[in-house]
Amino acid sequence: MKIRSSSGQHPWRNWGRSVLAHPQSVEMPADEGEVAEVLTRAKRDGLTVRPVGAGHSFTPIAATDGISLRLDRLAGVRSVDAAAGLVRLGAGTRLYDLRGPLAAHGLALENMGDIETQTVAGAISTGTHGTGNDFTGLAAQVKALRLVLANGDMVDCCETERPELFQAARLGLGALGVLTEVTLRCVPAFLLEADERPEPLAAVLENFDQIMAGADHVEFYWFPHTSTALVKANRRLPATAQPDPLPRWRSVLDDEILSNGVFGLTCGLGTLMPQVIPPVNRLAARLIGNRRFTDSSQEVFTSPRRVRFREMEYAIDREALPQALSEIRNLIKARGWRISFPLEIRVAAADEVWLSTAYRRASAYVAVHRYRRDPFAGYFLAVQEILLAYGGRPHWGKLHTLDAGQFRERYPRFDDVLAVRDEVDPDRLFRNAYLDRVLGR
Ligand SMILES: Cc1cc2nc3c(=O)[nH]c(=O)nc-3n(C[C@H](O)[C@H](O)[C@H](O)COP(=O)(O)OP(=O)(O)OC[C@H]3O[C@@H](n4cnc5c(N)ncnc54)[C@H](O)[C@@H]3O)c2cc1C
Repeated sequence: MKIRSSSGQHPWRNWGRSVLAHPQSVEMPADEGEVAEVLTRAKRDGLTVRPVGAGHSFTPIAATDGISLRLDRLAGVRSVDAAAGLVRLGAGTRLYDLRGPLAAHGLALENMGDIETQTVAGAISTGTHGTGNDFTGLAAQVKALRLVLANGDMVDCCETERPELFQAARLGLGALGVLTEVTLRCVPAFLLEADERPEPLAAVLENFDQIMAGADHVEFYWFPHTSTALVKANRRLPATAQPDPLPRWRSVLDDEILSNGVFGLTCGLGTLMPQVIPPVNRLAARLIGNRRFTDSSQEVFTSPRRVRFREMEYAIDREALPQALSEIRNLIKARGWRISFPLEIRVAAADEVWLSTAYRRASAYVAVHRYRRDPFAGYFLAVQEILLAYGGRPHWGKLHTLDAGQFRERYPRFDDVLAVRDEVDPDRLFRNAYLDRVLGR
């Protein structure tokens, strides 16, 4: 089962290259019995364990110097109840591997973020979300979970069976046990009609509510040093509607050459010569956008991301978005920073997931990025300060500096999560430095 035992021989890096860890060993169990064995052995040897998904979190949430547990072999669709829209999956299933099996049953995920590389367990455990006034993040789509707890017990939970464990573990930061199965509520397959166009930023901020209500899934990107927002509005259509996909050359040009290839080159150039960033951003804001197409939901929701970056994202009170973004704009100007990456603005409906950034609050999301070779700390800290003043709650998988005391003030059910953790992992088998900071020891 062990794929390698390293003691520092095989360092682990996350996608954003913001985390480097040296696990004592890496284990790849084939079933939940083997997961339980690893946990028993870890306890015996005085080691900690961290489940890891696709390593797409920017924080060291999955890092460990103990045992790194990869669930890649616990993957795939286990059962489908098409009438109820319930799909039971191995927790290590990659979102891209859901396309075929869901389509075969006429189903789809209700909403998605920008990429499909994550594992189901990793995505729900950090509160991965997309955009849409009436739509929630992925954790709110979870109907049931199966986990192996620190003591080796294999348990099922849902809203009626061990409800506290369910509420905590469906967005549980990998702190409560090892998820082996996730049951997701899916919806009938649908197409998305995408309408992408540049708009003046001032008009977008002035009419923020109207624009976000203009289609089912709306987001916009603002390139610093420009007064243009790239608005992406996706409207849901039934699966029987006529698809009108982008021609292959256009999606290669847009998604590979412009959004990844050229963008990567200009980011690299911007690191060496920051003065080129403002004119390059103005050019990008003019070149990108202005396209309409209709395709399957997963194809439209997600796209490849090959230029590595670091990211911080906060959910804030929805009404505060225009003011907060104006303050960030003034901040960038005042500090003279040259920022190549656009800010991404999204929205989500309120949900009931205890540690969700949208817990009981309709939220707007502000995401800031920096190319991986550019310094990010000063920019992120200053933006964080602005967003905290508007009820900010950081994405659990993206960079931030908050600790347990600050989370307690921002999450009404924070202590309920800690109570579940005390019950199921009293000896902190699943601890690491990040969890010590955000949950306490
Ligand atoms: C390019 C890029 C684009 C992104 N786009 C978005 C976006 O649009 N929206 C958004 O919200 N986020 C986005 N993210 C963030 C990303 O969705 C989250 O960080 C997510 O957690 C990554 O999933 P993963 O499988 O890589 O999990 P990892 O980062 O490997 O792990 C995340 C957490 O899940 C836990 N975990 C993993 N497997 C298990 C298991 N079996 N049992 C218990 N716990 C487990 C880990 O311990 C850890 O705590 C993006 C990230 C990148 C790099």
